[in-house]
Amino acid sequence: MTTKHNIEAAVAQTPIIERVKKQEELVWINPQYQQEMDPPVELELTMADIDEAESRLLRFAPLILKAFPETVSLNGLIESELRPIPAMKKRINEKYQAKLTGELLLKMDSHLAIAGSVKARGGIYEVLKYTEDLAIANGRLTFNDNYDKLLSEQNRQFFSQYTIQVGSTGNLGMSIGIIAAALGYEAIVHMSADAKQWKKELLRGRGVTVMEYDSDYGKAVEAGRQLSEQNPKSYFVDDENSRNLFLGYAVAAKRLKAQLIEQNISVDAEHPLFVYIPCGVGGAPGGVGFGLKQVFGEHVQLFFAEPTQAPCMLVGMSTGLHNDISVVDIGLTGLTHADGLAVNRPSGFVGGVMESLLSGIFTVSDQNLYHYMRDMLETEAIFLEPSACAAFTGVINLGHYEATRHYLSTQGLADKMASANHIVWATGGSLVPEVTRNEYIKTFL
Ligand SMILES: *Cc1c(COP(=O)(O)O)cnc(C)c1O
Repeated sequence: MTTKHNIEAAVAQTPIIERVKKQEELVWINPQYQQEMDPPVELELTMADIDEAESRLLRFAPLILKAFPETVSLNGLIESELRPIPAMKKRINEKYQAKLTGELLLKMDSHLAIAGSVKARGGIYEVLKYTEDLAIANGRLTFNDNYDKLLSEQNRQFFSQYTIQVGSTGNLGMSIGIIAAALGYEAIVHMSADAKQWKKELLRGRGVTVMEYDSDYGKAVEAGRQLSEQNPKSYFVDDENSRNLFLGYAVAAKRLKAQLIEQNISVDAEHPLFVYIPCGVGGAPGGVGFGLKQVFGEHVQLFFAEPTQAPCMLVGMSTGLHNDISVVDIGLTGLTHADGLAVNRPSGFVGGVMESLLSGIFTVSDQNLYHYMRDMLETEAIFLEPSACAAFTGVINLGHYEATRHYLSTQGLADKMASANHIVWATGGSLVPEVTRNEYIKTFL
């Protein structure tokens, strides 16, 4: 049991929390980061698990292709472009004196098919995994079948006896709701107060039941879990603890490796790769980051980005309390315009896995999210939702902050920065309606 006293003691031993409390933009460097895994850190999941998830997504590709014809160009895979953004690099160096060297690229999960966010990786994978298990156990599928048979009227009838539920701040609910409804399940999404109205309407339009809560994400999850437990034919997608969700995200690393090779971008001792990913509860950045560490090892440096009002992973990892501490415990509100990142309490599972893998976490003010969003529109003509812009704080401040400069020199990276590559992981945006975009563009002008 974590008592109030334990929290106070842990906070007192973690000096950075004083600055976090003041909602300063900052970086936390992870003191437990291990450059070389020697002896290798024992992790619960391995590369073999990622390979298995990748194979499963391949088996489902014919079904995805048939149900979502927009995936035709990738033969039913849900994958995003990796695009150099030189005009944005120029902008951040001029406007924010970022001193960024090397190449700046955007991983456009903002434009992933079906759900328009990074959640199209983990969320859809989790529902497919559940579906495969269910269909095989009931004699409706074998591994050698063409999986598009699951879309038949009889199979949809079969799936309609089952309910899939999830708690969400918006995007996870969209990915789970859309895929579950497409397969014929009854889908129920429990939306926290942060969730945007248009996301609820889009889901209702697809036949998904949306339950609204005027409380935070943690409460919406709890309500969903309880409702699901009352129904033996209901499956609850557990964002905080699901290994399946995590592995769905992790497949991104293998796909990214192929894209880097295709674009002649090396990742090695001379060409370190820096990846910056916005973090909410931790599943998406944790899964992607875990995969990247499996694929690129010490040559990838992984940074998360969180809002100054909701830096739950930073608070959990820096104090070592993980999900036993909430940002509310240190006096923050958890309220942020970054709806995808509006989480008070991190996943303890992800925090544990990241302990030796993560280089650090940046925080960013809501105001700057909108500046970066407009910078991207003006320089690259790419629209990203505010949450997805959080990662730009990393590329902008890597060379500014004393703590990161010190980190680069102790890791032997300072003299490699001219040949480094930086990937900003854009996590959402393509489905944001025009009217909402126009409101965003005028926010914090
Ligand atoms: C969900 C989400 C994230 C973060 O993912 P978590 O799994 O909650 O850490 C980042 N950006 C956007 C746009 C999201 O929807």
